[in-house]
Amino acid sequence: MPIYAHQQYLHSLLSWAKSVKEEERWRRGADGSLCHNEDQESDPVQKLIQYIEQALKEAPQALQKTDIEWIHQFAQEIYQERLGMYQEEIMDDGDHGENGHKQKAADQGTVIPLQPVPVGGHRLPPLPYAYDALEPYIDEQIMRLHHDQHHRSYVEGLNRAEKKMEEARRSGDFSLIKHWEREAAFNGAGHYLHTIFWNNMSPDGGGEPRGDIATQIKQDFSSFSRFKKHFSEAAKNVEGVGWALLVWSPRSHRLAILQAEKHQYLSQQDIVPLLVLDVWEHAYYLQYQTDRAKYVDNWWNIVNWDDVNRRFLEARTLRWAPY
Ligand code: MN
Repeated sequence: MPIYAHQQYLHSLLSWAKSVKEEERWRRGADGSLCHNEDQESDPVQKLIQYIEQALKEAPQALQKTDIEWIHQFAQEIYQERLGMYQEEIMDDGDHGENGHKQKAADQGTVIPLQPVPVGGHRLPPLPYAYDALEPYIDEQIMRLHHDQHHRSYVEGLNRAEKKMEEARRSGDFSLIKHWEREAAFNGAGHYLHTIFWNNMSPDGGGEPRGDIATQIKQDFSSFSRFKKHFSEAAKNVEGVGWALLVWSPRSHRLAILQAEKHQYLSQQDIVPLLVLDVWEHAYYLQYQTDRAKYVDNWWNIVNWDDVNRRFLEARTLRWAPY
């Protein structure tokens, strides 16, 4: 393997180790129970970061294959240990019922093992907080309706479309493919965006972003207030139904704000949503009637920036050649 490939590997490993570290810090804030190593000296992830940084500091020619293999082995051990921890956590987590207060969702583990959703086997994720936890900004009635009925219908619609398309693949009869592809896009986008949306909010949210996402927002929008204004204006001006999205573009290596008019028609597919805001009427109408602007303004009080940052750290490791 050429030297630059080793270097690239070390850079991506470093980025992973840092995101693990960042997540530990984040978890300590949310739930102290997961932190075993307050002591930096004995923290294996910290050690790994130091080894990699040391290796990268040396001249490329000095990078020994054995060093890389040793670092790779060390990272594997940490990965395996965390995988075990994560699986235990899933077992412990059990069913918190409809009022689970734990600010933790199924997609918030450090390392998510590959476990493909069976065709037609999508499930409605539980809300990561109580139905009334976001009051007074979003009331209990809306959350019940929005999560239990609207989101559920997206899950059911997606499952149905997937099964129908599997049926079509089996029979070779694709005469209704356009219909089912549309259904899969409409309900799939609905299911995935809502799954992000619930975690993008928190009863402890609001304020200004912290961590790397704060720096990146400042870099790309010059200030948090300019970003916030732009995002709010985008949300308020979505024509009819849809979403406002803060995205990281792996192509441009920048953040961007998008409107998704009719969420099945995403204008940029090659993106990873970080922060999404539901401005469909069902998200606010019972409480705010036609005053979407007030809903948008109030929504900022419940944004879960730690969640946005966690998504950003993961998404940032994905990069294409810039053009
Ligand atoms: Mn919705």
